[in-house]
Amino acid sequence: MSIKLNSGHSMPLVGFGCWKLSNNLAADQVYNAIKVGYRLFDEAQDYGNEKEVGEGINRAIKEGIVSRDELFITSKLWNSFHDPKHVEYALDRVLSDLNLNYLDLFLIHFPIAQKFVPIDEKYPPGFYCGDGNKFHFEDVPLLDTWKAMEKLVEKGKVRSIGISNFSGALIQDLLRGAKIPPAVLQIEHHPYLQQDRLIQWVQSKGIAITAYSSFGPQSFIELESKKAIDTPTLFENNAIKKIADKHGKSPAQVLLRWATQRDIAVIPKSNNPDRALQNLNVAEFTLDDEDVQEIKKLDKELRFNDPWEWNNEHIPTFI
Ligand code: NAD
Repeated sequence: MSIKLNSGHSMPLVGFGCWKLSNNLAADQVYNAIKVGYRLFDEAQDYGNEKEVGEGINRAIKEGIVSRDELFITSKLWNSFHDPKHVEYALDRVLSDLNLNYLDLFLIHFPIAQKFVPIDEKYPPGFYCGDGNKFHFEDVPLLDTWKAMEKLVEKGKVRSIGISNFSGALIQDLLRGAKIPPAVLQIEHHPYLQQDRLIQWVQSKGIAITAYSSFGPQSFIELESKKAIDTPTLFENNAIKKIADKHGKSPAQVLLRWATQRDIAVIPKSNNPDRALQNLNVAEFTLDDEDVQEIKKLDKELRFNDPWEWNNEHIPTFI
């Protein structure tokens, strides 16, 4: 199952998230994920494991398990490289780490321009802005970054371009000046953060949505986020468990199906092969209206990946 993008390319509805894949295991995990049927891999400069993920991808290609054309590889431009003169420089590092000659999708990771850090100084730079723990912005309007992203498509280095963690207002502004509209918006999305209005509007503009952190607090518990630890897990939620029992599926599958049923792509991450396989098979059952209404009641507008809370700094992104 796939989603047809406004760029003319197709994106698989279910992919494999690469955030927090450890460097020593990532190559094997990606290789095994391709073996069980994953075709989309969601990467980012910031994940610090593109070399290893590229190793897994290239091993599978070399062994003839899959061809490059059958794969859909996403990466994301980190905040330190928003200046138009650094966008291609950043992408070139992504391509050389992944050992690929093009990306299927390149996203602006956050609508936040941090001060540039040369690759030789620190890579990936994370929140480092060249000045110890101090955070510095860079004065680059998003449209300028976007125009540099468009050039990557023209050069054939990237097939589709998109955005992540953008609000409706920022997207509307971007559309005013974009020659190539974003193909995809990637956002945090789970029953505690449903964002119905944003999703409806974005889809009405022909922009596809990818959901991240589909299991809500789960991914942030391992980061010791107090907010996530204090929030009841969605896997143990009575409504989700009841729906899972009714369909003979796991709570994780219900959470993923709830999104894919509305044409929202998902990119769950699992180190466990059984779960990875389970997560891939989430299109062959249908939640009914009653299930959807029950899940609707769980919305709390609760965001776990919130730049307002990064690094104890207040970073105004209004997402
Ligand atoms: P996720 O929602 O995929 O959750 C991962 C957690 O759920 C892990 O602890 C995993 O062990 C567990 N899990 C996975 N499958 C399970 C199953 N079937 N049953 C029980 N537990 C299961 O979280 P995520 O990693 O935050 O998001 C997925 C991907 O989205 C990331 O890997 C990354 O690629 C992307 N992402 C993007 C952004 C962004 O800013 N654009 C932010 C966060 C994540």
